Amino acid sequence: MTKSQSKEDMIAKIVAAYASRPDVAADDIVALLARLRREMGDESAAPSTSEAHAAEPVAEPAVPIDKAMTKDKVYCLCCGKGFKMLKRHLGAEHGLSEAEYRAMFGLPEDMPLVAPSYSKKKADYAKSAGFGKYARTGRPAADNDAKVS
Ligand SMILES: [Zn+2]
Repeated sequence: MTKSQSKEDMIAKIVAAYASRPDVAADDIVALLARLRREMGDESAAPSTSEAHAAEPVAEPAVPIDKAMTKDKVYCLCCGKGFKMLKRHLGAEHGLSEAEYRAMFGLPEDMPLVAPSYSKKKADYAKSAGFGKYARTGRPAADNDAKVS
């Protein structure tokens, strides 16, 4: 896109420079243009842009992703072991940050890496984050009370 655009730009400049010469015929300009297009096109066509594969996944998970979480455990997709929370394990065992882990397996950002029961225990006043809807049973913050679900 930007690549081919700048290529076209370059061709246009070359052709314009060539065309400004007093001794060139229209046919020469057309021929030059065709030749430039062909040659510059060939050049960029050969190495198929590796950028197109940038968003490609991912590692094969050790556990099917839809089975990677139970109420009490979340399973590591790298090794299949179950934990209450993955963060520490990922860093210690695999040298991965949560973000790297998510990227590795193409996990959505809102997928919790903490077992639901564990995060519930840790924050029993607010229902576990990322586990379905946020249901605030406690005091409604500020003027959220207009919202009824
Ligand atoms: Zn693991």
